[in-house]
Amino acid sequence: MRIAVLSDIHANRIALEAVLAVVDTLKPDAIWCLGDVVGYGPEPQACVELIAARADLCLAGNHDLAVVGKVSLDEFSPDAYAAVLWQRPRLSATALAWLAQQQPRLEPAGITLAHGSPRDPIWEYVLDAATAAANQAYFETQLCLIGHSHLAIAWRLQPQADGAWIRVRLERRPVGEMLALTTTDRWLLNPGSVGQPRDGDPRACFALLDTANLTWTWHRVAYDVAAVDAAIQAAGLPRRLGRRLYSGQ
Ligand code: ZN
Repeated sequence: MRIAVLSDIHANRIALEAVLAVVDTLKPDAIWCLGDVVGYGPEPQACVELIAARADLCLAGNHDLAVVGKVSLDEFSPDAYAAVLWQRPRLSATALAWLAQQQPRLEPAGITLAHGSPRDPIWEYVLDAATAAANQAYFETQLCLIGHSHLAIAWRLQPQADGAWIRVRLERRPVGEMLALTTTDRWLLNPGSVGQPRDGDPRACFALLDTANLTWTWHRVAYDVAAVDAAIQAAGLPRRLGRRLYSGQ
């Protein structure tokens, strides 16, 4: 099965439509979304409608749960907080109900999916090797797909012969180059963010997982960042939420 894996769309409809156009050319068997359809951006309703129509499954991210009132806003930065409060009254009852029914962790087809991490699917960022290693005890499958950090990176967990410790390697590949998912290892795979990349590349990001050939390939898609910035300003959302899109930070 070939699966297009999208995450952290963050109400960026223009980026999402650009990504879906490329996804369509790849003809995957399924589209999975790892959460945070809303938060930050200017078009939450359009993004919920697109993902509800196109994705075969979708996780709940921390922003999705905040918009529907399922988690507290205490952990949110001022920009994130402002966007949640702006978006909530701009989502239809149907969209809010759709967001509210999603779960932050699922295990379809023998693959673990968690928005943040398998240990803490709502809040934890897997940003370093120690956190990646600590998470190996919290999933049973060979592959675990995660989002939340907005970084297109993979963590390779190599079990040692005595089982005493796990060697962790950070894996990155240039766009379009396949990463071979060795069966002797376990993998934490992040497709990066569609709507707000934070790895210095402003292009929208997603990944293609091939479960038959065990490969993972990142794709980047340029989109009209200035148009999204203009929509953020027109909405009266924090100015920084548009500025950061130009640099992918
Ligand atoms: Zn996010």
